[in-house]
Amino acid sequence: MRVQVGIIGGGPSGLLLSQLLHLQGIETIVLERRERAYVLGRIRAGVLEQGLVAMLREAKVAERMEAEGELHEGFDIAFGGRRHRIDLAGHTNGAAVMVYGQTEITRDLYDARDAMGGLIVHEAVDVTPHDFDSDAPYLTYRKDGREHRIDCDFIAGCDGFHGASRKSIPTSALKEYERVYPFGWLGVLSETPPASDELIYSNHERGFALCSMRSRSLSRYYVQVLVDEKLDEWPDERFWDELRMRLPEETAQSLVTGVSIEKSIAPLRSFVAEPMRHGRLLLAGDAAHIVPPTGAKGLNLAASDIYFLSRGLIDYYRTGDESGLASYSQKALDRVWKAERFSWWMTELLHRFQDRGPFAARIQRAELDYLVKSSAAMAALAENYVGLPYE
Ligand SMILES: Cc1cc2nc3c(=O)[nH]c(=O)nc-3n(C[C@H](O)[C@H](O)[C@H](O)COP(=O)(O)OP(=O)(O)OC[C@H]3O[C@@H](n4cnc5c(N)ncnc54)[C@H](O)[C@@H]3O)c2cc1C
Repeated sequence: MRVQVGIIGGGPSGLLLSQLLHLQGIETIVLERRERAYVLGRIRAGVLEQGLVAMLREAKVAERMEAEGELHEGFDIAFGGRRHRIDLAGHTNGAAVMVYGQTEITRDLYDARDAMGGLIVHEAVDVTPHDFDSDAPYLTYRKDGREHRIDCDFIAGCDGFHGASRKSIPTSALKEYERVYPFGWLGVLSETPPASDELIYSNHERGFALCSMRSRSLSRYYVQVLVDEKLDEWPDERFWDELRMRLPEETAQSLVTGVSIEKSIAPLRSFVAEPMRHGRLLLAGDAAHIVPPTGAKGLNLAASDIYFLSRGLIDYYRTGDESGLASYSQKALDRVWKAERFSWWMTELLHRFQDRGPFAARIQRAELDYLVKSSAAMAALAENYVGLPYE
Protein backbone atom coordinates (compact mmCIF):
# COMPACT_ATOMS: atom_id res chain seq x y z
CA MET A 1 0.00 0.00 0.00
CA ARG A 2 1.13 3.58 -0.67
CA VAL A 3 0.14 6.89 0.97
CA GLN A 4 1.76 10.31 0.87
CA VAL A 5 2.36 10.65 4.61
CA GLY A 6 2.61 7.71 7.01
CA ILE A 7 1.86 8.74 10.59
CA ILE A 8 3.00 6.74 13.62
CA GLY A 9 0.79 7.35 16.67
CA GLY A 10 -2.92 8.07 17.05
CA GLY A 11 -2.70 10.60 19.88
CA PRO A 12 -3.55 14.28 19.38
CA SER A 13 -0.45 15.04 17.25
CA GLY A 14 -0.98 12.22 14.79
CA LEU A 15 -4.75 12.64 14.49
CA LEU A 16 -4.59 16.42 14.08
CA LEU A 17 -1.91 16.13 11.39
CA SER A 18 -3.88 13.47 9.57
CA GLN A 19 -7.06 15.58 9.68
CA LEU A 20 -5.38 18.81 8.50
CA LEU A 21 -3.62 17.02 5.62
CA HIS A 22 -6.77 15.15 4.59
CA LEU A 23 -8.65 18.47 4.34
CA GLN A 24 -6.02 19.53 1.77
CA GLY A 25 -6.34 16.30 -0.21
CA ILE A 26 -3.14 14.71 1.14
CA GLU A 27 -3.41 10.96 1.83
CA THR A 28 -2.31 9.64 5.20
CA ILE A 29 -2.49 6.51 7.30
CA VAL A 30 -2.28 6.53 11.10
CA LEU A 31 -0.71 3.49 12.78
CA GLU A 32 -1.59 3.30 16.48
CA ARG A 33 -0.22 0.69 18.85
CA ARG A 34 -3.18 0.64 21.24
CA GLU A 35 -6.84 -0.10 20.81
CA ARG A 36 -9.08 2.93 20.43
CA ALA A 37 -10.85 2.52 23.79
CA TYR A 38 -7.50 2.65 25.56
CA VAL A 39 -6.45 5.84 23.77
CA LEU A 40 -9.81 7.42 24.59
CA GLY A 41 -9.57 6.38 28.24
CA ARG A 42 -6.39 8.33 28.94
CA ILE A 43 -6.88 11.38 31.14
CA ARG A 44 -4.27 14.02 30.36
CA ALA A 45 -4.18 17.72 29.49
CA GLY A 46 -7.08 20.16 29.61
CA VAL A 47 -5.90 23.77 29.16
CA LEU A 48 -5.76 24.92 25.52
CA GLU A 49 -3.93 27.95 24.18
CA GLN A 50 -5.61 30.09 21.52
CA GLY A 51 -3.25 28.64 18.90
CA LEU A 52 -4.57 25.13 19.54
CA VAL A 53 -8.16 26.39 19.59
CA ALA A 54 -7.57 27.97 16.15
CA MET A 55 -6.02 24.73 14.87
CA LEU A 56 -9.06 22.74 15.99
CA ARG A 57 -11.30 25.20 14.14
CA GLU A 58 -9.15 24.88 11.02
CA ALA A 59 -9.37 21.09 11.35
CA LYS A 60 -13.19 21.37 11.56
CA VAL A 61 -13.33 19.60 14.92
CA ALA A 62 -14.17 22.55 17.14
CA GLU A 63 -17.96 22.31 17.36
CA ARG A 64 -18.19 20.44 20.66
CA MET A 65 -15.30 22.44 22.17
CA GLU A 66 -17.13 25.69 21.31
CA ALA A 67 -20.27 24.38 23.01
CA GLU A 68 -18.78 22.65 26.05
CA GLY A 69 -15.36 24.24 26.61
CA GLU A 70 -14.91 27.15 29.00
CA LEU A 71 -12.89 30.28 28.35
CA HIS A 72 -10.75 31.23 31.34
CA GLU A 73 -9.40 34.76 31.54
CA GLY A 74 -7.33 34.20 34.64
CA PHE A 75 -6.17 31.77 37.32
CA ASP A 76 -5.10 31.96 40.95
CA ILE A 77 -1.73 31.38 42.57
CA ALA A 78 -2.06 30.55 46.27
CA PHE A 79 0.66 30.81 48.91
CA GLY A 80 0.90 31.93 52.51
CA GLY A 81 -2.78 31.11 53.04
CA ARG A 82 -4.02 33.54 50.34
CA ARG A 83 -5.08 33.40 46.70
CA HIS A 84 -3.81 35.94 44.16
CA ARG A 85 -5.44 36.26 40.76
CA ILE A 86 -3.37 36.43 37.59
CA ASP A 87 -5.48 38.38 35.14
CA LEU A 88 -4.54 36.73 31.85
CA ALA A 89 -6.85 38.82 29.70
CA GLY A 90 -5.90 42.09 31.40
CA HIS A 91 -2.20 41.50 30.78
CA THR A 92 -2.47 40.21 27.21
CA ASN A 93 -4.96 42.42 25.40
CA GLY A 94 -7.84 40.10 26.12
CA ALA A 95 -6.31 36.65 25.49
CA ALA A 96 -7.64 33.64 27.39
CA VAL A 97 -7.24 29.86 27.54
CA MET A 98 -9.91 27.27 26.78
CA VAL A 99 -10.58 24.53 29.34
CA TYR A 100 -11.53 21.39 27.39
CA GLY A 101 -10.10 17.92 27.96
CA GLN A 102 -7.51 16.27 25.75
CA THR A 103 -9.66 13.14 25.94
CA GLU A 104 -12.53 15.07 24.33
CA ILE A 105 -10.25 16.52 21.61
CA THR A 106 -9.04 13.03 20.81
CA ARG A 107 -12.63 11.78 20.61
CA ASP A 108 -13.60 14.70 18.31
CA LEU A 109 -10.62 13.97 16.07
CA TYR A 110 -11.43 10.26 15.83
CA ASP A 111 -15.06 11.10 14.97
CA ALA A 112 -13.94 13.52 12.25
CA ARG A 113 -11.41 11.06 10.82
CA ASP A 114 -14.08 8.32 10.72
CA ALA A 115 -16.58 10.66 9.04
CA MET A 116 -14.04 11.48 6.31
CA GLY A 117 -13.02 7.87 5.81
CA GLY A 118 -9.56 8.41 7.32
CA LEU A 119 -7.31 5.37 7.50
CA ILE A 120 -6.47 4.51 11.12
CA VAL A 121 -5.03 1.13 12.09
CA HIS A 122 -5.31 0.29 15.78
CA GLU A 123 -3.31 -2.40 17.57
CA ALA A 124 -0.53 -2.07 14.99
CA VAL A 125 2.38 -4.08 16.41
CA ASP A 126 6.10 -3.36 15.92
CA VAL A 127 5.59 -0.28 13.76
CA THR A 128 9.00 0.48 12.26
CA PRO A 129 10.14 3.33 10.00
CA HIS A 130 12.65 2.35 7.28
CA ASP A 131 14.95 4.16 4.84
CA PHE A 132 13.92 7.63 5.98
CA ASP A 133 17.30 8.95 4.94
CA SER A 134 16.37 8.09 1.34
CA ASP A 135 13.66 9.39 -1.04
CA ALA A 136 11.68 6.18 -0.60
CA PRO A 137 10.88 5.66 3.08
CA TYR A 138 8.43 2.99 4.20
CA LEU A 139 6.78 1.65 7.32
CA THR A 140 6.25 -1.93 8.40
CA TYR A 141 3.94 -3.27 11.10
CA ARG A 142 2.09 -6.40 12.12
CA LYS A 143 -1.64 -6.68 12.62
CA ASP A 144 -3.55 -9.87 13.48
CA GLY A 145 -0.39 -11.87 12.85
CA ARG A 146 0.14 -10.50 9.30
CA GLU A 147 3.02 -8.32 8.12
CA HIS A 148 2.18 -5.05 6.33
CA ARG A 149 4.24 -2.50 4.42
CA ILE A 150 3.28 1.12 3.73
CA ASP A 151 5.34 3.08 1.19
CA CYS A 152 5.20 6.85 1.60
CA ASP A 153 6.92 10.16 0.83
CA PHE A 154 7.27 11.20 4.47
CA ILE A 155 6.92 9.61 7.91
CA ALA A 156 5.57 11.66 10.81
CA GLY A 157 6.73 10.33 14.19
CA CYS A 158 3.83 11.29 16.46
CA ASP A 159 4.14 8.32 18.82
CA GLY A 160 4.86 10.00 22.14
CA PHE A 161 7.84 9.80 24.45
CA HIS A 162 8.07 5.98 24.48
CA GLY A 163 7.35 5.52 20.77
CA ALA A 164 9.38 3.86 18.03
CA SER A 165 10.23 6.81 15.79
CA ARG A 166 12.75 8.67 17.92
CA LYS A 167 14.35 5.33 18.87
CA SER A 168 14.86 4.49 15.20
CA ILE A 169 17.18 7.49 14.75
CA PRO A 170 20.88 6.72 15.29
CA THR A 171 21.93 8.16 18.67
CA SER A 172 24.84 9.93 16.99
CA ALA A 173 22.33 12.03 15.01
CA LEU A 174 20.32 13.14 18.05
CA LYS A 175 21.18 15.54 20.83
CA GLU A 176 19.05 14.96 23.91
CA TYR A 177 18.56 17.33 26.84
CA GLU A 178 16.84 16.09 29.97
CA ARG A 179 15.93 17.08 33.51
CA VAL A 180 14.08 14.62 35.73
CA TYR A 181 12.40 16.17 38.78
CA PRO A 182 12.49 14.38 42.14
CA PHE A 183 8.69 14.28 42.42
CA GLY A 184 5.53 13.46 40.53
CA TRP A 185 1.90 14.57 40.40
CA LEU A 186 -0.77 12.38 41.93
CA GLY A 187 -3.93 13.23 39.97
CA VAL A 188 -7.56 12.52 40.81
CA LEU A 189 -10.57 12.98 38.55
CA SER A 190 -13.91 13.29 40.34
CA GLU A 191 -17.48 14.01 39.32
CA THR A 192 -17.72 17.02 41.60
CA PRO A 193 -18.03 20.76 40.95
CA PRO A 194 -14.64 22.54 40.70
CA ALA A 195 -13.15 24.27 43.76
CA SER A 196 -13.35 27.60 41.98
CA ASP A 197 -14.41 29.12 38.65
CA GLU A 198 -10.74 29.26 37.61
CA LEU A 199 -7.67 27.06 38.21
CA ILE A 200 -5.76 27.38 41.51
CA TYR A 201 -2.01 26.65 41.56
CA SER A 202 -0.94 26.34 45.19
CA ASN A 203 2.54 26.56 46.70
CA HIS A 204 2.56 25.09 50.22
CA GLU A 205 5.17 23.82 52.70
CA ARG A 206 3.73 20.31 52.25
CA GLY A 207 4.14 20.55 48.48
CA PHE A 208 2.41 21.82 45.36
CA ALA A 209 -1.29 21.33 44.66
CA LEU A 210 -3.46 22.18 41.66
CA CYS A 211 -7.24 22.52 41.47
CA SER A 212 -8.19 22.12 37.83
CA MET A 213 -11.31 21.04 35.98
CA ARG A 214 -12.68 19.56 32.80
CA SER A 215 -16.23 20.95 33.11
CA ARG A 216 -18.68 22.38 35.66
CA SER A 217 -19.26 18.90 37.02
CA LEU A 218 -15.89 17.22 36.47
CA SER A 219 -12.85 18.26 38.51
CA ARG A 220 -9.18 17.37 38.21
CA TYR A 221 -6.95 17.77 41.26
CA TYR A 222 -3.25 17.13 41.75
CA VAL A 223 -0.84 17.00 44.69
CA GLN A 224 2.95 16.80 44.48
CA VAL A 225 4.18 13.40 45.74
CA LEU A 226 7.49 11.58 45.82
CA VAL A 227 8.14 9.90 42.52
CA ASP A 228 8.23 6.38 43.98
CA GLU A 229 4.94 6.60 45.89
CA LYS A 230 2.35 3.94 45.13
CA LEU A 231 -1.27 4.56 44.22
CA ASP A 232 -2.55 2.10 46.83
CA GLU A 233 -0.95 4.28 49.51
CA TRP A 234 -3.40 7.00 48.45
CA PRO A 235 -7.02 6.07 49.19
CA ASP A 236 -9.43 8.89 48.34
CA GLU A 237 -9.74 10.14 51.95
CA ARG A 238 -5.98 10.59 52.26
CA PHE A 239 -5.86 12.43 48.94
CA TRP A 240 -8.65 14.85 49.90
CA ASP A 241 -7.12 15.47 53.36
CA GLU A 242 -3.75 16.24 51.81
CA LEU A 243 -5.25 18.50 49.16
CA ARG A 244 -7.23 20.47 51.78
CA MET A 245 -4.06 21.00 53.83
CA ARG A 246 -2.30 22.54 50.83
CA LEU A 247 -5.07 25.05 50.03
CA PRO A 248 -6.00 28.33 51.72
CA GLU A 249 -8.49 27.63 54.52
CA GLU A 250 -11.53 29.15 52.85
CA THR A 251 -10.95 27.16 49.66
CA ALA A 252 -10.33 23.96 51.62
CA GLN A 253 -13.55 24.39 53.57
CA SER A 254 -15.70 24.80 50.49
CA LEU A 255 -14.04 21.94 48.55
CA VAL A 256 -16.61 19.38 47.39
CA THR A 257 -15.08 15.90 47.43
CA GLY A 258 -16.32 12.63 45.99
CA VAL A 259 -15.28 9.22 44.75
CA SER A 260 -12.30 9.33 42.40
CA ILE A 261 -13.11 8.01 38.92
CA GLU A 262 -9.45 8.04 37.87
CA LYS A 263 -6.26 8.24 39.88
CA SER A 264 -2.71 8.17 38.56
CA ILE A 265 0.83 9.32 39.31
CA ALA A 266 2.78 11.08 36.55
CA PRO A 267 6.52 11.71 36.87
CA LEU A 268 7.76 15.20 35.97
CA ARG A 269 10.38 15.55 33.26
CA SER A 270 11.80 18.13 30.89
CA PHE A 271 13.19 16.62 27.68
CA VAL A 272 14.11 17.78 24.18
CA ALA A 273 15.58 15.76 21.30
CA GLU A 274 17.15 17.80 18.51
CA PRO A 275 16.77 18.06 15.57
CA MET A 276 13.15 17.13 14.88
CA ARG A 277 13.76 16.23 11.23
CA HIS A 278 15.90 13.31 10.05
CA GLY A 279 15.68 13.02 6.27
CA ARG A 280 12.05 12.13 5.62
CA LEU A 281 11.21 11.30 9.24
CA LEU A 282 9.70 14.25 11.09
CA LEU A 283 9.15 14.06 14.84
CA ALA A 284 6.29 15.95 16.48
CA GLY A 285 4.79 16.33 19.96
CA ASP A 286 5.89 14.16 22.87
CA ALA A 287 8.03 12.04 20.52
CA ALA A 288 10.47 14.96 20.46
CA HIS A 289 9.92 16.78 23.75
CA ILE A 290 8.33 16.58 27.19
CA VAL A 291 7.54 19.34 29.64
CA PRO A 292 6.44 19.03 33.25
CA PRO A 293 2.66 19.70 33.32
CA THR A 294 3.04 22.89 35.39
CA GLY A 295 2.00 25.58 32.91
CA ALA A 296 -0.05 23.18 30.74
CA LYS A 297 2.24 23.22 27.71
CA GLY A 298 2.56 19.56 26.60
CA LEU A 299 -0.50 19.30 24.39
CA ASN A 300 -0.12 22.90 23.24
CA LEU A 301 3.42 22.24 22.03
CA ALA A 302 2.21 19.20 20.13
CA ALA A 303 -0.25 21.54 18.41
CA SER A 304 2.37 24.12 17.42
CA ASP A 305 4.60 21.36 16.00
CA ILE A 306 1.68 20.17 13.90
CA TYR A 307 1.02 23.74 12.77
CA PHE A 308 4.57 24.08 11.35
CA LEU A 309 4.66 20.52 10.03
CA SER A 310 1.26 20.60 8.32
CA ARG A 311 2.11 23.88 6.59
CA GLY A 312 5.45 22.51 5.43
CA LEU A 313 3.80 19.41 3.97
CA ILE A 314 0.89 21.31 2.41
CA ASP A 315 3.30 23.76 0.68
CA TYR A 316 5.37 20.82 -0.56
CA TYR A 317 2.40 19.05 -2.12
CA ARG A 318 0.76 22.22 -3.45
CA THR A 319 3.73 23.95 -5.06
CA GLY A 320 6.80 21.77 -4.53
CA ASP A 321 8.15 24.40 -2.13
CA GLU A 322 10.34 22.57 0.41
CA SER A 323 11.30 25.58 2.52
CA GLY A 324 8.65 24.92 5.19
CA LEU A 325 9.90 21.36 5.65
CA ALA A 326 13.51 22.55 5.64
CA SER A 327 12.82 25.02 8.44
CA TYR A 328 10.38 22.78 10.36
CA SER A 329 12.79 21.59 13.03
CA GLN A 330 14.22 25.03 13.74
CA LYS A 331 10.84 26.78 13.88
CA ALA A 332 9.29 24.13 16.10
CA LEU A 333 12.30 24.01 18.43
CA ASP A 334 12.42 27.79 18.85
CA ARG A 335 8.95 27.61 20.35
CA VAL A 336 9.58 24.34 22.19
CA TRP A 337 12.53 25.80 24.10
CA LYS A 338 10.54 28.85 25.18
CA ALA A 339 7.81 26.58 26.55
CA GLU A 340 10.47 24.35 28.16
CA ARG A 341 11.83 27.43 29.92
CA PHE A 342 8.37 28.53 31.06
CA SER A 343 7.35 25.05 32.31
CA TRP A 344 10.66 24.67 34.15
CA TRP A 345 10.22 28.14 35.71
CA MET A 346 6.65 27.45 36.88
CA THR A 347 7.76 24.09 38.28
CA GLU A 348 10.61 25.73 40.20
CA LEU A 349 8.31 28.49 41.46
CA LEU A 350 5.52 26.30 42.77
CA HIS A 351 6.99 23.01 44.03
CA ARG A 352 8.70 22.08 47.27
CA PHE A 353 12.29 20.93 46.69
CA GLN A 354 13.19 18.86 49.77
CA ASP A 355 16.92 18.92 49.13
CA ARG A 356 17.37 22.66 48.68
CA GLY A 357 17.17 24.01 52.21
CA PRO A 358 15.74 27.18 53.75
CA PHE A 359 17.61 29.68 51.58
CA ALA A 360 16.02 28.37 48.39
CA ALA A 361 12.60 28.33 50.09
CA ARG A 362 12.94 32.02 51.03
CA ILE A 363 14.06 32.96 47.51
CA GLN A 364 11.04 31.10 46.13
CA ARG A 365 8.75 32.99 48.49
CA ALA A 366 10.34 36.31 47.49
CA GLU A 367 9.73 35.48 43.84
CA LEU A 368 6.06 34.68 44.54
CA ASP A 369 5.68 37.95 46.47
CA TYR A 370 7.31 39.86 43.64
CA LEU A 371 5.17 38.12 41.02
CA VAL A 372 1.80 39.00 42.53
CA LYS A 373 2.77 42.62 43.16
CA SER A 374 4.53 43.39 39.89
CA SER A 375 2.44 44.09 36.84
CA ALA A 376 5.47 43.43 34.62
CA ALA A 377 6.07 40.00 36.18
CA MET A 378 2.39 39.06 35.89
CA ALA A 379 2.36 40.21 32.26
CA ALA A 380 5.34 37.95 31.47
CA LEU A 381 3.59 35.02 33.14
CA ALA A 382 0.30 35.75 31.37
CA GLU A 383 1.94 36.11 27.94
CA ASN A 384 3.55 32.68 28.24
CA TYR A 385 0.53 30.99 29.82
CA VAL A 386 -1.89 32.00 27.04
CA GLY A 387 0.73 30.86 24.53
CA LEU A 388 3.47 32.53 22.53
CA PRO A 389 2.69 33.16 18.85
CA TYR A 390 3.38 30.56 16.17
CA GLU A 391 6.15 32.28 14.18
C1 LIG B 1 -0.03 10.91 32.39
C2 LIG B 1 0.08 12.20 31.61
C3 LIG B 1 -0.56 13.35 32.07
C4 LIG B 1 -0.45 14.55 31.38
N1 LIG B 1 -1.06 15.66 31.84
C5 LIG B 1 -0.93 16.82 31.17
C6 LIG B 1 -1.50 18.02 31.64
O1 LIG B 1 -2.15 18.04 32.67
N2 LIG B 1 -1.32 19.16 30.91
C7 LIG B 1 -0.59 19.16 29.75
O2 LIG B 1 -0.46 20.21 29.10
N3 LIG B 1 -0.04 18.06 29.29
C8 LIG B 1 -0.19 16.90 29.97
N4 LIG B 1 0.39 15.79 29.49
C9 LIG B 1 1.10 15.90 28.23
C10 LIG B 1 0.15 15.78 27.03
O3 LIG B 1 -0.87 14.89 27.29
C11 LIG B 1 1.00 15.38 25.85
O4 LIG B 1 1.92 16.43 25.60
C12 LIG B 1 0.19 15.08 24.58
O5 LIG B 1 -0.55 13.92 24.76
C13 LIG B 1 1.13 14.92 23.39
O6 LIG B 1 0.43 14.39 22.31
P1 LIG B 1 1.17 13.39 21.29
O7 LIG B 1 0.11 13.02 20.31
O8 LIG B 1 2.41 14.03 20.83
O9 LIG B 1 1.61 12.15 22.17
P2 LIG B 1 0.69 11.05 22.88
O10 LIG B 1 -0.55 11.65 23.40
O11 LIG B 1 1.58 10.32 23.82
O12 LIG B 1 0.28 10.10 21.70
C14 LIG B 1 1.18 9.19 21.12
C15 LIG B 1 0.41 8.02 20.57
O13 LIG B 1 1.31 7.13 19.95
C16 LIG B 1 1.01 5.80 20.33
N5 LIG B 1 2.23 5.01 20.24
C17 LIG B 1 3.26 4.94 21.12
N6 LIG B 1 4.21 4.11 20.68
C18 LIG B 1 3.78 3.65 19.48
C19 LIG B 1 4.33 2.75 18.54
N7 LIG B 1 5.51 2.16 18.75
N8 LIG B 1 3.62 2.47 17.42
C20 LIG B 1 2.42 3.08 17.20
N9 LIG B 1 1.85 3.93 18.08
C21 LIG B 1 2.53 4.22 19.20
C22 LIG B 1 0.48 5.93 21.75
O14 LIG B 1 -0.33 4.82 22.12
C23 LIG B 1 -0.30 7.23 21.65
O15 LIG B 1 -1.65 7.02 21.31
C24 LIG B 1 0.31 14.59 30.19
C25 LIG B 1 0.93 13.45 29.71
C26 LIG B 1 0.84 12.26 30.43
C27 LIG B 1 1.56 11.04 29.90
